[in-house]
Amino acid sequence: MGNRLCGHVSLITGGGSGLGLALVQRFIEEGAVGVGVLEKSKEKAALLTEKFGPAVCVTVGDAGAMQDNAKAVERTMAKFGHLDSFVGNAGIWDHGVAMLELPLDRIEMAFDELFAVNARGYLLGARAAAKALIKTCGSMIFTLSNGSFLPGGGGPLYTMSKHAGVGLVRQLAYELAPKVRVNGVAPSGMATDLRGLDTLAMADRSVNQVREPAEVASIMPLQLYPKTNQYTGAYVWLASKDDSVTVTGDVIRADCGLGIRGIRHVAGGLEL
Ligand code: NAD
Repeated sequence: MGNRLCGHVSLITGGGSGLGLALVQRFIEEGAVGVGVLEKSKEKAALLTEKFGPAVCVTVGDAGAMQDNAKAVERTMAKFGHLDSFVGNAGIWDHGVAMLELPLDRIEMAFDELFAVNARGYLLGARAAAKALIKTCGSMIFTLSNGSFLPGGGGPLYTMSKHAGVGLVRQLAYELAPKVRVNGVAPSGMATDLRGLDTLAMADRSVNQVREPAEVASIMPLQLYPKTNQYTGAYVWLASKDDSVTVTGDVIRADCGLGIRGIRHVAGGLEL
């Protein structure tokens, strides 16, 4: 790995597994002096501390709660002294439940549960981290999704929440310029522990239990079902003050080419 984040301090929500965990590891490999993590699962939080020791500062809490975000920022600052990036990443999924399948007696609760993490959590994390990032002219990076641009990556709840993330990126990039750059990365599928909604009795089911890697790869123009670490380079680039100093209010679509599918072939027609 390189040395793009020498001396850097980041705070990542949902760093206990999947993409967030890969980001913690990659940021440390790239020279970060410390990574704060806000993670809901006590078990995952304990494993993080065991794996990375003094390089991490893990706060167990809910990304959807203001006081837990504030606590994570405070603890990260107290341990590492400053903050250069905030990565809003904690998320939950709706397992693609279509609108007509959403039960009438639980649709309101399901909406609130999903938006509390995927949308409110991003706003609250940004609010908590902003002042520290203004001091360092740092940046915010939000994990979005193919569902931020295209239907079918989830049902309406997930798709709406990830579209909302694009609005947050644009609005905060506008509000926080010239001090803080705000961008997003929109991955496509990956085999992680991404969980469903408790309200819809799917909190124990994760995306990696319902997706076949070969099947997902076959619908991607790049014919890939990436590993989590294959997405981390985009975050390093956006967090680096040298590499992406001109970029704000934008989203890197790291979606294996989903956005350029044509109507004749999945890919352009090149033989593998
Ligand atoms: P994951 O479940 O492996 O990681 C998410 C982490 O967030 C977990 O450690 C979980 O415990 C934590 N978390 C969940 N709710 C939380 C809360 N309220 N407060 C604090 N922590 C919380 O899943 P992942 O796939 O790595 O998800 C990371 C991001 O990637 C999400 O925003 C997700 O929407 C996005 N994403 C995932 C996929 C995919 O196919 N897995 C595709 C596109 C985008």
